[in-house]
Amino acid sequence: MKCNFCEWRCELSEKPGICGRYIEQDGRIVEREPFDWIDFYPYTIESMPFYHALSGEYVVQTGTVSCNARCSYCINSHLAIEENEKRLLKHKDAEQLVKMVKQTGSAGVVFALNEVTCFLPSAIAVADLLHEEGLYAGCLTNGFQTEETANLLAEKMDFINVSLKSLSNEFYKKDLGLPGVDPVLRNIKIFNEKTHLEIVTPLVHEVVDNEIYDIADFICSVNPEIVWHLFRLMPNHERSDERDMTHEEMLKIYETVIKKLPFTYLGNFAGSLWVDTYCPDCGELIVKRICTGAWLGGTVYSLLEKGCCPKCGRKIPGVYMDA
Ligand code: SF4
Ligand code: SF4
Repeated sequence: MKCNFCEWRCELSEKPGICGRYIEQDGRIVEREPFDWIDFYPYTIESMPFYHALSGEYVVQTGTVSCNARCSYCINSHLAIEENEKRLLKHKDAEQLVKMVKQTGSAGVVFALNEVTCFLPSAIAVADLLHEEGLYAGCLTNGFQTEETANLLAEKMDFINVSLKSLSNEFYKKDLGLPGVDPVLRNIKIFNEKTHLEIVTPLVHEVVDNEIYDIADFICSVNPEIVWHLFRLMPNHERSDERDMTHEEMLKIYETVIKKLPFTYLGNFAGSLWVDTYCPDCGELIVKRICTGAWLGGTVYSLLEKGCCPKCGRKIPGVYMDA
């Protein structure tokens, strides 16, 4: 039978599909090693990154191993591609995980370490239980899932961050090992309609030189209020020799695109000054953040009142606990 979780649509049998996480058993798709997690620790939600969701809260970050993509610069390639850490998987069913969320005073769970589509039934079961307990669920994704899966994630996740790495099919084939970008663009539109969406784009030289402003135009055409994270690339995996982007190069992009996408941020390096939120209407500084390193940061203070600018009352898109 065909797996309908992502656009590879693998033919499953007792042999798993491309991601290695599903097999066919008695006419059903079965997740291998459900509820086996590689990590589950509280982190600031800004570290995921989510900047407009539950600002200042801690969430439990978790994930498993494997991926349906093969990104040349994957920061988690030891989990997602090489699966070296498989021996570290620990079993915690949904009840145990949610109990830990409550014990640590966290606001919910973010599935962040590898592709959520590769452990979809476990993630959905955890999200359902979190919601029953009045907690939150979010995920990071490469966006290559089927339309059915995108709709399911949009329904079950309070916030989703899609990594939009390029608009070029050639780049997706060469650098991600995926056949093309079209499903990702379609799913971004679904997420934008149905849940809180943030987008992250790693600043790879090839992308910056050829298409970064086209990516900005695409995001703007979907919704100019989308939160966009411009990420300094962490040269990793097959791209560990990639030249680091200079401040000047990154700033030029940030200063150009923030004029059309006011919730653009530039981060993933310690001391970034471009992680705060200003009201696009009155210019007030409304959320002050700190970026303490790659994938680390937090909110210093937020002046938002029920998701609105305290000075002019403009609504700022996001997920707020007091709204
Ligand atoms: S989720 Fe895995 S098994 Fe299913 S279609 Fe995608 S790669 Fe294949
Ligand atoms: S989609 Fe994410 S987890 Fe998967 S290989 Fe690419 S960067 Fe790694």
